[in-house]
Amino acid sequence: MIADLVIKGGTIVTDTATFRGAVAILGESIFAVGDDAAMPPARETLDATGLHVLPGAIDAHVHFREPGYTHKETWETGTASAAMGGVTTVFEMPNTKPPTGTVEALELKLKAAEKAYVDFGIYGLLAEDNLDQLEALIDGGVAAFKCFMGNTFGNLPAPPTGAILEGFEIIARHGYRISLHAENASIMARRQLALQAVGRVDPLAHLAARPPVVAVEAVSRAAILAEWTGARIHILHVSSGDELRPLREAKLRGVDITAETCPHYLLLDEHAYTDKGSLIRVNPPVREKVHQDQLWAAVRDGTIDMIATDHAPHTAAEKHNDDIWCADCGFTGVETQMPLMLTQVVAGRLGLTDYVRMTSAAPAKAFGLYPRKGALLAGSDADIVVVDLERAGLIASELLQSKGSSTPFDNVATAAAPIHTLVRGRFVMRDRALVVEARGHGRSVRRIQAMPTPAPRNMETTTAAITAKRP
Ligand SMILES: [Zn+2]
Repeated sequence: MIADLVIKGGTIVTDTATFRGAVAILGESIFAVGDDAAMPPARETLDATGLHVLPGAIDAHVHFREPGYTHKETWETGTASAAMGGVTTVFEMPNTKPPTGTVEALELKLKAAEKAYVDFGIYGLLAEDNLDQLEALIDGGVAAFKCFMGNTFGNLPAPPTGAILEGFEIIARHGYRISLHAENASIMARRQLALQAVGRVDPLAHLAARPPVVAVEAVSRAAILAEWTGARIHILHVSSGDELRPLREAKLRGVDITAETCPHYLLLDEHAYTDKGSLIRVNPPVREKVHQDQLWAAVRDGTIDMIATDHAPHTAAEKHNDDIWCADCGFTGVETQMPLMLTQVVAGRLGLTDYVRMTSAAPAKAFGLYPRKGALLAGSDADIVVVDLERAGLIASELLQSKGSSTPFDNVATAAAPIHTLVRGRFVMRDRALVVEARGHGRSVRRIQAMPTPAPRNMETTTAAITAKRP
């Protein structure tokens, strides 16, 4: 047996252990993990002396804007950014034009994704007007669903609670996870109007419009509906300490609920509104330091399962506006997560195995990809990132692959960097350079996705059940 590639001399990091060793790759898969001397002969050897070998990151929350907003990002530039950021699988959001709420829209997105450098899952939209499309979207190949309980870019209307419940009833029967933008639309809309009525256009008005209760209410309500229906849910971008209580309580009640936070909530605080102006506008908002501290505690105690990015690029002109209500929400992130968070690892704020768990194993498990992805095991996909924990650098917006590359982390110093990224055995980044020939290598994860057996509850009271009964 001759392996295609052996990565030797490095330190292997999994979600549970760190050890000296090598990885042998055959075709698209990991063939062996073990001692350098135990590796088979190989066509090629990569010397990883002084470097760390991690499973590639899985980012459960990116917006690649295509179709519809290709001046902000495309599947080509977005996945190139992922490759350069050590991210080997992304889950892409449905607030494109058209929104991914029908099979026809899904077909358009799958077509756009043919240019992907890295593997991907496509989110289907759960909205009030497409409940009759949800099962067709599953058949069409979505990997999960997204429900906007609060408005954000694209202004997709938040479904009323009745429609969310009906959507949960349908999806629970199939076992796919539903990711929630958990902010209460009505509270935010009223507050924004009130602030606008008194002339507030400054950046901090954005924070004032979205106090933590906006998220607390939505997380709690989503957890109640998930508990009732047996739907699996994921809370996107946890931004406040206050959301942690309903999240912990739901976990204790046995709700199948996972949660993510993002680097901007862990690394920025209210000073960003002064320092960055409208560039910092993101939903939910970056909050006061007290929330940041509670989020770090929740990262350490496991209440927050994952670190994702909410990669949400816009052009510089769209980000900068003297009227905060006119600045687009979100910013690029898929390429900067790993250098930023590994810098925290180097600083001792987060364990390296914990980092791997939160960025790779946990999302793989939540979305039914483990252990094909999110693991360095014989038989796993060879999705690997080789990182240098001693490579200092600066984040430079103009060097990012992302089209809408404005970032509040521009010029921030980093202490570590991904050096090589492999997706199913193929280099997509090598020696910090994008491998342009790998464009189109990315594939939908639906070919390997295996969610646990669905566990729907209260089936006798679903809308489908009660309307099927004849008196
Ligand atoms: Zn988002």
